[in-house]
Amino acid sequence: MEKNKFDNLEKEVLDFWDKSNTFEKSVSKENPNGNYTFYDGPPFGTGEPHYGHMLSSIAKDVVPRYWTMKGYRVERRWGWDCHGLPIENIIEKDLGIGSKSQIEELGIEKFNQACYSRVLDYADIWDDTIRRIGRWVDFKNSYKTMDLNYMESVWWGFKEMWKKDLVYEGKKVLLYCPRCETPISNFEVAMDNSYKDIEDDTIYVKFKILGKDFSILAWTTTPWTLPANTALAVSENIDYVLAEKDGQKYVLAKDRLAEVIGDASIIEEFKGDNLIGLKYKSLFSEEEFGVVSGDFVNTEDGTGIVHIAPAYGEDDYIVGQKFNLPIKSVLDDKGHFKDTGVYFEKANGEIIKKLESDGVIFSKLRVKHSYPHCHRCDTKLFYRAIPAWFFNISKLRSQMIENNKNINWCPKHLKEGRFAKGIEQAPDWNISRNRYFATPIPIWKCDSCDNIEVIGSVQELKDKSGAVDVKDIHNHSIDGFSWRCDKCNSQMKRISEVFDCWVESGSMPFAQMHYPFENVEKFEKNFPAQYISEYISQTRAWFYVMHVMSTALFNKNSFENVVTTGVILNEKGEKLSKSKKNYPDPSKIIDSFGADSLRAYLMGSSLMHAENLLFSEDEVKDIYRKNIVILWNIYSFYEMYSSEINSQESSDNILDQWIIARLNQLIEDVTKSMDDYDLPNAVRPIADFINDFSTWYLRRSRDRFKGDDVLDKQMALGTMKHILTDLSKVMAPFMPFISEQVWQRVSGHNFQNEDKSVHLEEWPEFQSYDQEVIEQMKLARKIVEAGLSKRSDAGMKIRQPLPYYSTDLVKTINTKYISIIESELNIQELRFGRNELGVELSEELLMEGIKRELVRTINSIRKNMGLTINDTVAVSFETDDELIIKTIEMFKDDLSKSVLASKIERGSNTQEEFTINNSIIRIGIK
Ligand SMILES: [Zn+2]
Ligand SMILES: [Zn+2]
Repeated sequence: MEKNKFDNLEKEVLDFWDKSNTFEKSVSKENPNGNYTFYDGPPFGTGEPHYGHMLSSIAKDVVPRYWTMKGYRVERRWGWDCHGLPIENIIEKDLGIGSKSQIEELGIEKFNQACYSRVLDYADIWDDTIRRIGRWVDFKNSYKTMDLNYMESVWWGFKEMWKKDLVYEGKKVLLYCPRCETPISNFEVAMDNSYKDIEDDTIYVKFKILGKDFSILAWTTTPWTLPANTALAVSENIDYVLAEKDGQKYVLAKDRLAEVIGDASIIEEFKGDNLIGLKYKSLFSEEEFGVVSGDFVNTEDGTGIVHIAPAYGEDDYIVGQKFNLPIKSVLDDKGHFKDTGVYFEKANGEIIKKLESDGVIFSKLRVKHSYPHCHRCDTKLFYRAIPAWFFNISKLRSQMIENNKNINWCPKHLKEGRFAKGIEQAPDWNISRNRYFATPIPIWKCDSCDNIEVIGSVQELKDKSGAVDVKDIHNHSIDGFSWRCDKCNSQMKRISEVFDCWVESGSMPFAQMHYPFENVEKFEKNFPAQYISEYISQTRAWFYVMHVMSTALFNKNSFENVVTTGVILNEKGEKLSKSKKNYPDPSKIIDSFGADSLRAYLMGSSLMHAENLLFSEDEVKDIYRKNIVILWNIYSFYEMYSSEINSQESSDNILDQWIIARLNQLIEDVTKSMDDYDLPNAVRPIADFINDFSTWYLRRSRDRFKGDDVLDKQMALGTMKHILTDLSKVMAPFMPFISEQVWQRVSGHNFQNEDKSVHLEEWPEFQSYDQEVIEQMKLARKIVEAGLSKRSDAGMKIRQPLPYYSTDLVKTINTKYISIIESELNIQELRFGRNELGVELSEELLMEGIKRELVRTINSIRKNMGLTINDTVAVSFETDDELIIKTIEMFKDDLSKSVLASKIERGSNTQEEFTINNSIIRIGIK
C-alpha cells in the first residue's frame, strides 16, 4: 500500500499542534463550565502498543476533546503501570533466572534496579504511536506506580483500610503459580483468559469402607491430590445406590450409575445422610478418614461423592475447616512432592500406576477439561491453601452495590449485569504477593508477640525507625528497618509480602496526585471522575478495584461514566497474535487511510458497545472514502470559488434551507449521543451527512456556483462556508486531522495563527430546524430514485431530456421541490399520475440532449489536458450529422460558456473521435 496525500495532510496538522502547543492551549483556555475529570487506566510499558491500546487511547481522546469544546477544562495525564510480574518475568529471562531463590542470591536490590531500568523501555515507541493516532495526553508529566509519591499514597490508602478493619490475614485456597511462587488472583487469570483446554487421565477410585463389604467410588481429574485426601463428601439430599457388578459392591449416586458402571444390579437405594460417618482407610497410609456432608456435591459428573484434599481445593478447604479435617500439604513452594521431589504435574502417572497395582482403580477416563495457567509465565497453576492478606470485600459489598447506582455504564446492561454480579459474587480480595518489584505491604510484626503496626507515610516510617533520609520505599530499601515492640520490647519487622499491583491500580485516583500529602483541595474537587474507558475484561479488574478502594476510603464511586469496549479480532475471528502476524499492521493502515479513518472506524463500530469486532481493512477503506475523500472533494470544489465570497446572505433557496436543517439535525444527533456516551451513534450520522452534502446538495447546486445569478451564487457560497465550518467542528473529536485541515482553510487562518484551531472552538449548538424541509426533500429524492430507475429501464441516458414523468406522489410534494426533481430527472415536466415516463423525443429535446453530451465530452477532454477554470480554449469539430451541426449553431453562446471556449468552429484540426446519438463527431481543442 502506498502512502496517500492525506498522510501528509495529517502530518502537517501534527506539526502545527506541536509547534503551537494546541493541546496545552485546549487545557488552559477559558473553561466557563468548570472541570471535567478523566482518569487514564495505565498500561504496562513493557511491550509495544497494539490495536487494543490504540482502541482505548482513541476512546480516551474523543470524549475529552468533545467536553473541551463544550467549555470544560479536561486535564489528561498519562500513567505507567510499572510493578508486578510482567516486568519481573522479563528481567528473570534477561538474567537467565528461573526461581525466587536465584533472585535472592542475586540480591533483591539488584533485581529491583534491573526492573526499574527496563520498565519504560518502550516509552518512546508509545509516545510516537499515541502522537500519530492523534491522542492528546500529557506524556512528559506522566505518573508512575513506582514513584515514591505514588507508593506513599498507596500506603496511606492501605492504612485507612486497616483502621476501618477491612484488612485481615488468613489462610485461603488460592490459585498458585509454582514457577513465580506466588498466588495469582482469580480475576487476573479470568481476564487474560488463561484457561486452556488440556487432556488428562482421570480415575474412578474405590475407597474400601471399614467393616462393610462395599467400596465408595469417587472420581478425580487430579490424581496427584489423592495423597492429600482426608475425607469423602456426599450430599444429604442426593439419592445413592448400593450396586453389584462382577461380584463387587459399590456405592455411588443413582443418577451416575448408568454412566459410571453401566449394567449393574441395584441392591439398595438410600439418601446420602446414611453414608455420613462411615470410615475408610487412606490410600497412602494407615490413617483412617471418614465420610462427611458437603452442600456443593452434585451429580453433573463424577459419582456424586467427592474426594476431599483440604490443602488443594476451595470447597475442600471449607469442608476441612468445618469438620476440623487434617490439612496435608504434600507439595513444596515450587510444586514438588516433599517426599519424592516429583513435580505435581508429572506425579499423576506414578500415582495411577501405584493405585492400579493396589487394585483400587475402578476405571480410567481420558477427558478434555479447561485448566488455569499463569497469565505471565504460562505454567499450570494449582489451588493451594496459603497464608495471605485480604481486603474484606464481604463488609464492603452492600455499599459497593449501592455506589454502583451512581455510575452510568455504556453499554447499559453491564451495570446490573456483569459488574453488579461480579460484586455480588466477589470473594475477599487477596492483596499480598510473595514477590519483589512492587509496593511493599507496610505491616511490621513483632517477632515474639502478636503486635502489629501499619505504616501510612514516609514520615511515620522515619519516626518509627529513626531513619533520617528515606528516598525509596521498595522492599530492598526498607526491609532492614526495625524497632522495639511497644508491648514486649522485642523486634518489629516488616512482613515479606508486597502488594498485588491491582491495589496500586485501584489507588490511582488519589495516588497520582500524591493525596493526601499534596493536592488535597484539587483531589476533593475533582473526585469522582466524569469519564473512564477500557476494554470489557476490566469490568472485573481495574473498574472493580477502583470501586473497591473508593468505596472503602471515600464511600463513593470513583467514576460517573464508563465506556467499555469489546475486543478486536482478525477477519477470521481469531485473537490478534504478534508472533503469528495474523492481522494488518496498524502503521500500514494509518499510512494508507490516515489515523482519522482508523479512529472513525473503531469509534463507529460495535466495539464501543463492548462487542467484539472482526477487523476489516475493507471497512476502514470504506470509512476513508465516505468521510475523508468525499469531504475533501467537497472542500476542493468550494475552494475554487471561495475567493469570490463577499457577503453572507441568508438564503431563501430550498437546497440551502435543506442542508442547513440537515446540519442542525446532525449537530443534535451527535450532541445527544455524545452526552449519552454512545459513540457509535455519534460517529455514524457524519458519513450520512457528508453523503447528502455531496450527492444531493452540491450536485444540485453546482450550476449555481457557475451561473450568472450573483445573489444566488453568494447564497450558495455562504451556505457552503457555514456548513463546512460547523461540520468540521462536529467532526473534530472523532476525525481531528481532516477537520483541522478543512477548518483552517475555510476560516482563512491557514495554519498561520498559533492561537487558532478547530479544537479551540466552541461546540456548535443546534438551532431548531424545519422538520418539514427534511421530510419533503426525502420525498423528492424518492421520486427521483423511482424516475431514474424508469429511465434506465427505458434505456434512456440521463443527459437526454425527456418530456415528462408522472407519479402519484406529486400530490404530497410542495411545489418548491418540483423544479429540483425536474432537473435531476432531466424532464420537462413532473405530472400527476401513475409512474409513466414520457419517451417521445421531439427535435428540440434531441438537440438539448446533444448539447449536454457535447458539454460533457469537451469538459472531459479539458480535464484530461489538465486545464483549469482559468484556461480558455478554441474548439474545432467535424461531423456529417445535420442535427449535431444544427445544435452547435443554435446553442453556440451557451456551449462556449459551459466549456470556457472563445470559439467553436467547424474545422479539420481535430484530435479525437466520439459518438453522440449514434453519429460520429471529431473534436479538437487548442
Ligand atoms: Zn507464573
Ligand atoms: Zn511484641
